[in-house]
Amino acid sequence: MSDTIFSRIIDGEFGTEFIYEDDICVAFRDINPKEKTHLLIVPKKPIPSIMEADESDEFLLGHLLFVCKKIGEMLKLPGYQLKINVGEHGGQEIFHLHIHLLSKF
Ligand code: AMP
Repeated sequence: MSDTIFSRIIDGEFGTEFIYEDDICVAFRDINPKEKTHLLIVPKKPIPSIMEADESDEFLLGHLLFVCKKIGEMLKLPGYQLKINVGEHGGQEIFHLHIHLLSKF
């Protein structure tokens, strides 16, 4: 399993503010936002990318999407994009699975 900057953020090493947290995942602001709202939804389990997810991760993957919906409601966003970069050739830079939540609002 990977040990990336996201694991250190999840462990609280940098005191990063979590917009959302539960037993399975956290959400925090992207350090280099591409939109007015740019959050990262990150599972606590350090799965490197979707390509390494297996059947036992099926609930976790669905949960991450449902958390995106909850965050959209929490922040009263009228619309947003969800993006997952998968693998080096899919533009992924940090190999700890995450969903980008991007909104102009
Ligand atoms: P990806 O290319 O999908 O792996 O996206 C990685 C994202 O992590 C980029 O949008 C970065 O700006 C963001 N990022 C890198 N380091 C940090 C950090 N310390 N805190 C918050 N976001 C970060």
